[in-house]
Amino acid sequence: MITLGIEGTAHSIGIGIVKGRNDSCSVLSNMIRTYRPEKGGIHPREAANHHVTYIAELIKEALQQAHIPAQDVDLISFSQGPGLGPCLRTAATAARALSLKLHKPIIGVNHCVAHLEIGRGVLPECTDPVLLYTSGANTQVIAFAEGKYRVFGETLDIGIGNCLDKFGRSLQMPFPSGPRIEQLAKKSTNYLELPYSVKGMDIAFSGLLTAAIHYHKNNKPLGDICYSLQETAFAALTEITERAMAHTEKQQVLLGGGVAANQRLRDMVSIMANERGARFFVPEKSLCVDNGAMIAWLGYIMYQSGVRMEIDDTIINQRFRTDQVEVIWRD
Ligand code: AMP
Ligand code: MG
Repeated sequence: MITLGIEGTAHSIGIGIVKGRNDSCSVLSNMIRTYRPEKGGIHPREAANHHVTYIAELIKEALQQAHIPAQDVDLISFSQGPGLGPCLRTAATAARALSLKLHKPIIGVNHCVAHLEIGRGVLPECTDPVLLYTSGANTQVIAFAEGKYRVFGETLDIGIGNCLDKFGRSLQMPFPSGPRIEQLAKKSTNYLELPYSVKGMDIAFSGLLTAAIHYHKNNKPLGDICYSLQETAFAALTEITERAMAHTEKQQVLLGGGVAANQRLRDMVSIMANERGARFFVPEKSLCVDNGAMIAWLGYIMYQSGVRMEIDDTIINQRFRTDQVEVIWRD
């Protein structure tokens, strides 16, 4: 069965085409275009305008790369939420139009659940992980328990990616700043004291961000600040992930979200997993960031498990919670 997935929750518009056979996922194509604001943060309407501009040609390119004529697509899925309203509406409108034109079924999926399921889909040994989902807007520790993906811990203010990007923006770094901060952090091992906010399995970053900006205003070396920012934030993320693993007694940990590209975060979580005798997984980078293939894959497994939607059921949900989804495809 071939599914075309449309991702459009925030800064990226992605079209992915996956072929599903039972539990096995092969990604046939996965095209992504990212909106980069000229200054400031993401403006929802401008991001949506960006998606409108590129979506049609991206669909064409994805079909071409997958060597699939549009008629051979069996299912259309799209990111129904959570995310920015104008961006979600753009992806949903395109999905509805495709579904009606091609006479193929449509399914709206939860973006956060898609980040977890794509890891299970492409990494067959990753069966029942705790997901540390670290992206721009979202930071959550998610695991399956009693029929749902439950959020064991999450940020109480901003996402980790947003924290890095905001720090970068205060220094006039272009968006996204995460990769540049990673490079600068490699230049130092000099730790500057920063606030460490872990509350049970929840976490907060705004105090850390303010303190890091303050160090920069006081002319502390940028390498030291970036190093300390990463060490502090990632240690806190690793701590709440470990706490969720201990609580749920799960033996696997999976990374997802754009910040999962960061080698220091990968190393910290992988060391923690090794020390617990647990296994560490991370999919390839194009499947960690916001992408259409993960949306397609979740659409496929939901459809296989009997989920059906009419156009009327495809209204977007900006505040779509991870634990609102009935996970009927797992025991
Ligand atoms: P997402 O929202 O999941 O697409 O992820 C985007 C976020 O990932 C942005 O906030 C980026 O700054 C961040 N990011 C991307 N690459 C890296 C990296 N190497 N280190 C840290 N953050 C990163
Ligand atoms: Mg995401």
